[in-house]
Order: sequence, then C-alpha cells, then structure tokens
Amino acid sequence: MQHVIEVVEHRGGQTRKVTFELATQARQLADKLGGTAHAVVLGNGAAQLAENLKTYPLDIVHVAEDPDVDLFLIDPTIDYVESVARATGPSVILLPNTMYGRDVASRLVARLDAGMAADVTAFEIESGRVACVAPKLGGVTITTCAFKDTEYGVVTARPNAFPAQSGGKGARVEQIAKPQSKPYVMRVENEVEEASGELGLEEAPVVVSGGRGLGGPEPFATLLKPLADALGGAVGASRAAADAGWVPYSLQIGQTGKTVSPNLYIAVGISGAIQHKVGMRSAGTIVAINKDASAPIAEFSDLVVVGDAFSIIPELTKLIEAEKG
Ligand SMILES: Cc1cc2nc3c(=O)[nH]c(=O)nc-3n(C[C@H](O)[C@H](O)[C@H](O)COP(=O)(O)OP(=O)(O)OC[C@H]3O[C@@H](n4cnc5c(N)ncnc54)[C@H](O)[C@@H]3O)c2cc1C
Repeated sequence: MQHVIEVVEHRGGQTRKVTFELATQARQLADKLGGTAHAVVLGNGAAQLAENLKTYPLDIVHVAEDPDVDLFLIDPTIDYVESVARATGPSVILLPNTMYGRDVASRLVARLDAGMAADVTAFEIESGRVACVAPKLGGVTITTCAFKDTEYGVVTARPNAFPAQSGGKGARVEQIAKPQSKPYVMRVENEVEEASGELGLEEAPVVVSGGRGLGGPEPFATLLKPLADALGGAVGASRAAADAGWVPYSLQIGQTGKTVSPNLYIAVGISGAIQHKVGMRSAGTIVAINKDASAPIAEFSDLVVVGDAFSIIPELTKLIEAEKG
C-alpha cells in the first residue's frame, strides 16, 4: 500500500490549474495503490486554499499558514512536507514540474532518501507500484520508470498533462504542527515581478512566442501581446530573444527554459532549433509564422504561414477580434 501526497504551489492563495490536476491524479493513484490521497498547502493564503481544495476528491488537506514559509527560502517547506510524509507513511509525492516544483522535489528526494521521476505525463501501476511515464530528449524517447525499494517516490508532473475533475466527499482539513528544525538562515528579501510570469506561461491554453525574427523588444508588446490577449493566451520567447535582452528569461521556452503544452502554440520568427523544440513540441497544434518556408520549424508544425510577421500578425489579431465580436 502507498499513499499519495500532493504539494500545492501557490502565491498568496492564488494557485495554478495544475493543483487541481494533481489533486485528481492523487485520488486515482491512491485508489489503485490502496492508500489515501493528501494535499499539503503552506504559507500565506493556505487556509483559504485548503477550503477550495475540499471540492476535489482528496482525503486530507494538511495546512500550515506559517509566515516562515514565505519569509525563508524553501527550508520550512521541506520541513513541513517531510513531516507530513513521515506521518503518512510510504507515499508518492506529487509536485508540478515548474521551477518551484523542481526546486522542492530535489530537496525532498535528499531528505526522504526517495526515488525521483521528472516531467511525468502519465502513470501506470505495475505490480502495485507506480511507474512514471516521461518523455525524454524532447519526446524522441518515452521512458517508463518505477521506483525500486524506496519508501517514498517524488514526482514532478507536467502541467496540462492530466485532467482536473472536481467532486468528492469533502476532504478533512488538518493543521500541521510546526516541525522541529534548525534555525532558518536563507531569508527572502525581495521577490521580483518577473518570476510570477511563469504562472501564466506554463498553463496558458495558447502561447504566442517570438524569436530573433522580430528584430527587437517592441514587437513583443505591440504585436505578440495583442494576439495573445485576443486568444486568451500568454507570450513566450526563444532563447535568442531572451539572450538579446528583448524579454526576461522567465519567458524563454526550450531546453534551458520552460516546457509548455498549450492547446495552440504560435511560433513567430522562430527557426525551430532542437533546443526550442523540446520545450513546446507537445503542444496540441503548432503554427509557425516565418518568412522562410524551409525553416526547421516547418518540419514539426501543423500549419506554416510563410510571410512577414509584421504584416501577418496585425491582420490575424484583427480577424480574431472580429470573430470574437
Ligand atoms: C545548450 C543550449 C541550450 C539552448 N536552449 C535553448 C532554449 O531553451 N530555448 C531556445 O529557444 N533556444 C535555445 N538554444 C538556442 C537555439 O539553439 C537557437 O539558437 C535559438 O532557439 C534560435 O532562436 P530563434 O529561432 O529565435 O532565432 P533564429 O534561429 O535566428 O531564427 C529566426 C527566424 O526568424 C525568421 N524571420 C526573420 N524575420 C522574420 C519576419 N519578419 N517574419 C517572420 N519570420 C522571420 C527567420 O526566417 C528565422 O527562421 C540553446 C542552445 C544551446 C547550445
């Protein structure tokens, strides 16, 4: 028997869609493993979030609205999650495959001497054990890995890979006692706005990304943002655009940036290098707008619009706005 524990990422009580995807997954896995489904919500706004989570099919939501969680870097979070995991017993711990999730996951693995699977898009149960399916090398290879002889398995799951389904008997909310720990030393002095951009980008149903072909920072605001707004999406970028300082690195998509899986990905003035491709190839529909019909992105796009982005995008935005109207 194994339990399943979801660690909830949020900022001041505002959570991501992936929270509800993982809550749903926690229930399904727990049922298959004969265990119980839990969530851990920490920090400012946690109590309200725990109430919201009651509509998801979890057994227990563990809460600590402790200011230390937001005041100090990551250590209090690890202490709290470890304490819930040890009290719950052998479990699979689910986190979103985001900057936060990966950060917490790696520390938990060391703390709990656990196994680790990253960027997981599906689960299989093999002989009562969880096997994690994860695309590697930009989706060229799909791996299926099970945890071997470990009490705890830590999983970061790809946002948008699992359905979220509310409904449940109403989880019990339990306060977590403050864990005994060494004094915390890494204090958060300041959080820059840039980091919050991630919330929108990784979960947006539509991503409109720009590359070197845009020639400077302005088109991101004047061309891509209006198109993304019209489609209810977010703006992303290639590394060339981020390296040039046209957009913050928090918008970079690819091997050394973020992985996104929107329903629609529009690549504007992006050539489609492999390092970019690995961050967006799992998008539902890929549209490339490029003046070069033979750019590599054409090979893995569903639709290629050949032409100058500067004339295509304003027309496209107008059409979409008119259609919406
Ligand atoms: C270790 C490593 C990690 C990397 N990680 C990443 C990563 O995470 N993400 C990433 O993106 N890259 C990454 N790269 C860089 C990657 O190899 C490419 O250099 C980069 O993706 C190219 O960006 P780009 O497509 O915007 O620019 P380019 O390759 O220069 O392509 C520009 C495109 O714009 C088109 N274009 C030009 N003008 C117009 C116009 N007016 N209208 C329409 N189209 C136009 C051109 O035809 C061209 O296809 C990494 C590289 C390395 C070595």
